[in-house]
This record gives sequence, structure tokens and C-alpha cells, in this order.
Amino acid sequence: MIKLKNITAGYNNVEVTKNINIAFEEASITTIIGKNGCGKTTLLKTAANILKAFKGEVILKDRNISSFSNKELAKKLSFLPQIRKVPNITVYNLVMHGRYPYLDFLRVPQQKDKEIVQKTIEDMALGKYINKNIYELSGGQRQKVYIAMLLAQDTDIIFLDEPTTYLDINHQLEILEIIKRLKKMGKTIVMVLHDLNNALSYSDKICLMDKGEIVIYDSPEKVFESREIDRVFKVYSSQITFEDEMPKQYLFNLK
Ligand code: ADP
Repeated sequence: MIKLKNITAGYNNVEVTKNINIAFEEASITTIIGKNGCGKTTLLKTAANILKAFKGEVILKDRNISSFSNKELAKKLSFLPQIRKVPNITVYNLVMHGRYPYLDFLRVPQQKDKEIVQKTIEDMALGKYINKNIYELSGGQRQKVYIAMLLAQDTDIIFLDEPTTYLDINHQLEILEIIKRLKKMGKTIVMVLHDLNNALSYSDKICLMDKGEIVIYDSPEKVFESREIDRVFKVYSSQITFEDEMPKQYLFNLK
């Protein structure tokens, strides 16, 4: 369980997020939504201990997050940032990065680490690219390699900052289905998504932010019914229900 208590955070003494109180549910998908610049990434980075809060505390398993060593923390939570330079590295070696918290100081992978990396790459249907440089892959394939790296890291908590941005619809849905699989494995997923329909149809909980604060944190249905999305984004939202098992879909029009 990870909890943020009375968090105020920002950069260079400027407060960006204020009075953040939230507990992310285990084995579920929470998506943070809100307009550009409202503090979504800042909240995610604070929760992952990448950014130190000005005030308040982040509690992980009943301990203050800053009491964990980097290596200890890297076995408990992983973070996929939004903008990444494409490094000059093979698929295999990038996924092996996920095993670093488990290696000794010489970083020599053991047989077990090699097996985990091999299996993870195959599970993500990336087997044929294993020795390719990630430069040679498409954006969607590259994103899957990064997710394979997180899988190899095998943390209970996974933070993803806009994992589907810049991907075509097919890869977006593929990544979201993989994220759903991670949840079924018992992982706690906290992510930022721009696509409101994907956010509402794939998440168990929605955290809507505005001007650095949490407006509402509830199920997609409750958040939709609250009409707070309409107020914050200045849109009119509607819901489409299907007769079969399909999840509800959402449409947004300018007000
Ligand atoms: P969002 O993810 O909702 O788009 P961010 O959390 O990235 O918003 O940013 C919130 C505010 O913090 C913005 O005004 C942004 O300019 C500012 N900000 C973000 N990162 C930094 C940084 N590294 N240094 C200074 N200001 C930053």
C-alpha cells in the first residue's frame, strides 16, 4: 500500500501540487487525469520518491519512503517516465536493466536473471527482436520493451507516465491490455493518461486533478456522474453502454 499524506511539492520553491492526500489501491489501476500542467507528473514523481516533497510524507508499507535505500525501493516500485532518450542498447540488455536492483555490486547477471529476462521478452512477444538495437524498433515495440524492463524489475507498484502517448490506436490498446494483465498479476498500477476515454474505460479508480489539487478520486462511473470532468476540461461528456461485456465508452464534446 502506498499513501501520500498532506503532500505539497514543486520545483525551486514554487508549489505545484498542494494538499495531496491519496492512497493507491493494491492490485488495481489508478489513472491520474487533468489538464496540461496541472501537476500529474509532479504527483507521480513525488509518489515514486523521484521528487522530494516540500511538505507531507509518502508512506510505503507503513514506512516513510525516504527511509528505503535506492536499491530496496527499486525492488518495490518502478517508474516509467514520459520522455526518454532512445539509448543505444539491445532489447536484451535494456530488459536486463530491470534486474539491476537484484544484482551484486559488479552487476553480473546470474542464470536466474538471464532466464527471467529471456522469459519476459518472450511473454511480451518480442522474441524476434531480442538482439536488435532498440533504435531499430517502432515506437510501439519500443514501449513494449520498456514495459518488459519493468516486468523484469518485478515490483508490486508500477508508475507509468503517459505510456500510450504517440502510439497508434492498435499499440495504445495493446499496451493498455498489457497493463490490465499486470493488474491481474496483483500489481498496483498508477499512471497518467491523456486519453480520457481510455482512462475511464481501463481504470478501477480515476484521480482528477486541477490546479495542483485532487478534485475527485473515485470509480470511473462516479467520476463521470460527478460532472467534474466537464467542469475541469470545459467539455460535455457522454457515456455509451453496450449490451454485451464491452466496457462503457465515453465521448467528449466542447461545451
Ligand atoms: P502535468 O503532468 O499535469 O502536465 P507537471 O506536473 O509536469 O504537469 O507540471 C506542473 C507544473 O510544474 C508546470 O507548470 C510545469 O511547468 C512545472 N514543472 C514541471 N517540471 C518542472 C521542473 N523540472 N522544473 C520547474 N518547473 C517544472
